[in-house]
Amino acid sequence: MSTEVKTTTCYMCACRCGIRVHLRDGEVRYIEGNPAHPLNKGVICAKGASGIMKQKSPARLTRPLRRKAGAERGAGAFEPISWDEAFAMLEKRLAAMRATDPKKFALFTGRDQMQALTGLFARQFGTPNYAAHGGFCSVNMAAGLIYTIGGSFWEFGGPDLERAKLFVMLGTAEDHHSNPLKIAISKFKRDGGRFISVNPVRTGYSAIADEWVPIRPGTDGALLLALNHELIAQGLYDREFVARYTNGGQLVVTDPASARHGLLAVDEDVEPDNPLYPQNQLWWDRHSGRAVLSHTPGADPRLFGSYRLADGTRVQPAFQLLAERVQPHTPEWAEGITGIPAATIRRLAHEMGVTARDEKIELPIAWTDCWGNEHQTVIGNPVAFHAMRGLAAHSNGFQTVRALGILMSLLGTIDRPGGFRHKAPFPRAIPPSAKTPTGPEGVQPGKPLAGLALGWPGSPEDLFVDADGKPVRIDKGFSWEYPLSVHGLMHNVITNAWRGDPYRLDTLMIFMANMAWNSTMNTDEVRRMLNDKGADGEYRIPFLVVCDAFQSEMTAFADLVLPDTTYLERHDVMSMLDRPISEFDGPVDSVRIPVVPPKGECKPFQEVLIELASRLKLPAFVDAGGARKYRDYPDFIVRHETEPGSGIGFLAGWRGADGSKALLGEPNPRQWEMYEKNNCVFRYELAPSYRYMRNWNRGYMEWAQRMRLRRYGEPILVHLYSEVLQKFRLAAQGKWPGRRPPPELAQRVATHFDPLPFYSAPLETLATDLEKYPLAAITQRPMAMYHSWDSQNAWLRQIHAHNYLFVNPRTAQDAGIADGAWMWVESQWGKVRCMGRHSEAVEPGTVWTWNAIGKSPGAWALAPDANEFTKGFILNHLISDTLPGDTSNSDPVTGQAGWYDVRVRIYPQ
Ligand code: SF4
Repeated sequence: MSTEVKTTTCYMCACRCGIRVHLRDGEVRYIEGNPAHPLNKGVICAKGASGIMKQKSPARLTRPLRRKAGAERGAGAFEPISWDEAFAMLEKRLAAMRATDPKKFALFTGRDQMQALTGLFARQFGTPNYAAHGGFCSVNMAAGLIYTIGGSFWEFGGPDLERAKLFVMLGTAEDHHSNPLKIAISKFKRDGGRFISVNPVRTGYSAIADEWVPIRPGTDGALLLALNHELIAQGLYDREFVARYTNGGQLVVTDPASARHGLLAVDEDVEPDNPLYPQNQLWWDRHSGRAVLSHTPGADPRLFGSYRLADGTRVQPAFQLLAERVQPHTPEWAEGITGIPAATIRRLAHEMGVTARDEKIELPIAWTDCWGNEHQTVIGNPVAFHAMRGLAAHSNGFQTVRALGILMSLLGTIDRPGGFRHKAPFPRAIPPSAKTPTGPEGVQPGKPLAGLALGWPGSPEDLFVDADGKPVRIDKGFSWEYPLSVHGLMHNVITNAWRGDPYRLDTLMIFMANMAWNSTMNTDEVRRMLNDKGADGEYRIPFLVVCDAFQSEMTAFADLVLPDTTYLERHDVMSMLDRPISEFDGPVDSVRIPVVPPKGECKPFQEVLIELASRLKLPAFVDAGGARKYRDYPDFIVRHETEPGSGIGFLAGWRGADGSKALLGEPNPRQWEMYEKNNCVFRYELAPSYRYMRNWNRGYMEWAQRMRLRRYGEPILVHLYSEVLQKFRLAAQGKWPGRRPPPELAQRVATHFDPLPFYSAPLETLATDLEKYPLAAITQRPMAMYHSWDSQNAWLRQIHAHNYLFVNPRTAQDAGIADGAWMWVESQWGKVRCMGRHSEAVEPGTVWTWNAIGKSPGAWALAPDANEFTKGFILNHLISDTLPGDTSNSDPVTGQAGWYDVRVRIYPQ
């Protein structure tokens, strides 16, 4: 008998904890947390420890499968084929599309951790039709904060609970950022910190908060506006921070007759060094009483007032406009919307403001700001926040998240000790400089895409539309319908492809996404569309390729199934080019290294892409003579550079011929080995003077440019006022000199591209008879299951094999529903039978359940009488991707799916 222990990285959820896998005679026997790993420090959760059962699942796919000739999609009638046949079939099909119309091929992926590779493949192929899961997950959280503070939560940044005194969590699932956040909260509470959770449901983190503040779903924007109102009304904002580090002191042209109305006033005699991020905006200096260049030495901006420039143009500080915006949004106003008593809102604002002001931290770290001012210390205002999908997944979520970014900024907590801190490669410029092509000419037969498939528009000129303003992407991303859809709109793909709107696809490749069940907003309709044929008898979506490790609901609809490996069977990278595991104090990336061989004929999806890219001779994957460049995925990871000689690859650690370089350096053939010897993690510690205030820290900026983490070195002022949004609004109002939206979308853009945050009810709420459907219904994933990933896991199924609808006892009694009884929950889109549980942990106006516990009969190799089929349910049957009037159930700014906006009624069975 031989035993050994191997280190790798967990993937039972997206947190990326380090694990030690114990093997006996090559078989996984036990998985524990790796104490030497910086992320989880030895902690493991129920999911992580249950990885062993993933290996043993009877639902594993082990051979490539082709739908049997004559069998209907969805019937699950397949025949095994060899990889050679599968590759030959794909090569022929993809080569033909690439040579004629690359956009006929679409690649959409779920919660994978290889978007740098999938994105590279799509770009090299030449298709614009690529995205991962972000659009139906939390793009509003990413976009809302990145367009405001240059960073966001989770992989991009987070709460500094080491030093915070007050921690406020909003709209976060039971386990988001699981082990790392649990470890941090545990220490924070032991150290005496106060933890407030704002959430419609009191489970998970909310259950251990010192104060639970229940809120009506979709109304967080009103709460945040009222908190901003109170901080300004009470003078509890950090004036110095607002004046120097945000655009609050910058002057906005407020003259409706001016072509620059709503844009920042600039000194046109000063040449901006970088037209993308010009630095010639103006302050009204309170010392000299005149307009001066922003950040002029010795000047101090007025934050309030109304002024005239020398040419008579009326201008006002952006902060004045913000104050005017939030002025009517009193706690009393918000109480009527959120259900939170005005006195509570006032108390919370006071507590945040006073903690930030009176419990300041001062660290003896000298640093120099971007304007050359030397600071002897770093100051921190110890109020920290964390927020996620509960704020994001509403059709009003972008502006809600903007309001949160502004609250964090008024409190002076951005990249400061005890507040929010960035993680490399953030902060990014606002907006980041990566862009998509701007028209259909960016898609050419036989050529890579002329830009990225996903980017960060800064003005209407950056949209990816044709001359008539019509979308180029199948999901209509970066069009006037969803201008800032920075993560794409996976939830639109099947519906649009089925409709042929804006065009038909030939091949849709789906990786790791259960689009026929829980990863779609209208499950029944999508299943019908996947099976639907046109008048010619052909499927409307002609060819469906599904790559997954398990037999999910989605695989049954495939024409070709590619069996993926599990995370224990493959190489993988958590790359700085993608979503690394950086810490506040510096860049960190990590890898997975196989601990067991692939089961059957399983092949990692990365290998599939490398093989296809080589066969198709995509330029980045072949040499000048067209010969295959990379043997396999591990070889690609070691040798690929973003440009020849750039010194930047997928991994930042142990670069250089001998592994002595960090972040930048020539390829190192022994890089995998070095990661393996170091717990599969590479950590780089920033010099102390580069660790804080990174939006405005000259030393950090210069270092980040040298390391090519940042392209430009301009300071990143917080956008209290969003000039980017105003440019789109001007276009909608017919006042922008460039592109304009189609007339039918002009009002929608003008409304939602408000440069200051505002509250409007979610679109679905406005389109629902609230008398008939009075209750909000939401889902969250449970702590012990990551969406549908562990539907087949024998250990985790002992914790959750079916779900309930949790209902406040008062609501349930009013509806005549006994605890544990069968009942109906119904929306305007459909109804589903479920079991109800009475729960005091949810407010009377809301009902909720766990996501993706209920299953479709026949899937996941479960027994025919499995509880998942007979007792479980999914709420998706009640949700729609389209609202009355054929508008999308998505945020009009980012396209974020409005998952949590549905309204329901309940009644006994
Ligand atoms: S939180 Fe649990 S499941 Fe997620 S990566 Fe860590 S150990 Fe694995």
